[in-house]
Amino acid sequence: MPGRHHLFVPGPTNVPDRVLRAMHRAQEDHRSSAFPDLTHGVLRDLKPVFGTTAGRPFVFASTGTGMWEAALTNTLAPGDRVLAARFGQFSHLFIDTAERLGLKVDVIDLEWGEALDPSRVADALVADTAHAIQAVLLVHNETATGVTNDVAAVREAIDDAHHPALLLVDGVSSIGSLEFRFDEWGVDVAVCGSQKGFMMPAGLGMLCLSPKALARIEAARFPRAYFDLRPQVLHNDQGYFPYTPALAHLFGLREALDMIAEQGMPAIASRHARLGEGVRRAVAAWGLRFCARDPERRSNTVTAIVVPEGKDARHVIDAAYRRWDLALGSGLGRLNGKVFRIGHLGDLNEGMILGALALTELALHDAGVAVPYGAGVAAAQRWYRESMP
Ligand code: PLP
Repeated sequence: MPGRHHLFVPGPTNVPDRVLRAMHRAQEDHRSSAFPDLTHGVLRDLKPVFGTTAGRPFVFASTGTGMWEAALTNTLAPGDRVLAARFGQFSHLFIDTAERLGLKVDVIDLEWGEALDPSRVADALVADTAHAIQAVLLVHNETATGVTNDVAAVREAIDDAHHPALLLVDGVSSIGSLEFRFDEWGVDVAVCGSQKGFMMPAGLGMLCLSPKALARIEAARFPRAYFDLRPQVLHNDQGYFPYTPALAHLFGLREALDMIAEQGMPAIASRHARLGEGVRRAVAAWGLRFCARDPERRSNTVTAIVVPEGKDARHVIDAAYRRWDLALGSGLGRLNGKVFRIGHLGDLNEGMILGALALTELALHDAGVAVPYGAGVAAAQRWYRESMP
């Protein structure tokens, strides 16, 4: 199809030309005396994106899924008990990873589309008088349902229960797009990947450890090899990696971090809030339902939209893709066929969103959901104009 493809899945996101150009260059010696500039610079500049000065970032050739494994195996031991809430496909997969590694997960099961009420964490931890629970696992932004959880409130619940559990947070679809305050929120491990807020191709996993979590990596009894942080610490300190790093991705990350620094995380977070609100107003104007129940917890990076009873969200997604060159996110797991998702994160502006909304209206019609033409676009336009800074 001629013209640009419209990529509106909630990751991978659009890669800016600057990042593409930075990646498109010759390989170089990753053991040269010049290389530490790149390593040290990237690890240093990741800190403000995580919202930390005390934490220590790491970068792997991996994805978010690998970072779950790295977070768990470097801080815990096989057989340990952890507490986690399940409210969508990614919180489900985080739990599944923990269980497959041999952890015992106390699961708080919620309706998919709900946010975690921190009092549920407090109750579970207060009941754990023996302090057997070693960690709380939390997905900050559940990409499958478009719900953003309150990380600070979960930390408060842990502290109010006077419980020593670590707080392990999945920030895959929040870090780099939404406000993330690693230090202030008392996060012990945060994980993310390159293909969302970092505006890069998939292929890098990043994680950040608090001093408390870092102190655990020696004693953690999980067998580890590739994801062992101990050799990373040794090599990163010298400006290197224990193996051949993903050079092109590191060059891309360097450029992406420059772009993030130029905009500043507060401006990036407020841009995402404005863009996300435009999408929400469009959905309201279409008269469709949000998967995320609580309006206060609707995500600024992704909106999951429920199709009316008797309609199939897969038809919307397929029509969008085949007829209108628009990639929408699918309904994941038990939401398959029931919801479609619009990703609104990364290198994005109003014009791109308005185009996607217009095409979504066409695809909805194709799938038999006759929303009024232009209603969503007009609602978003009005909002963008009135909220223009
Ligand atoms: N966690 C969340 C919240 C996600 O959205 C995703 C992917 O979309 C993952 C984890 C898994 O990350 P990856 O696909 O990079 O392995």
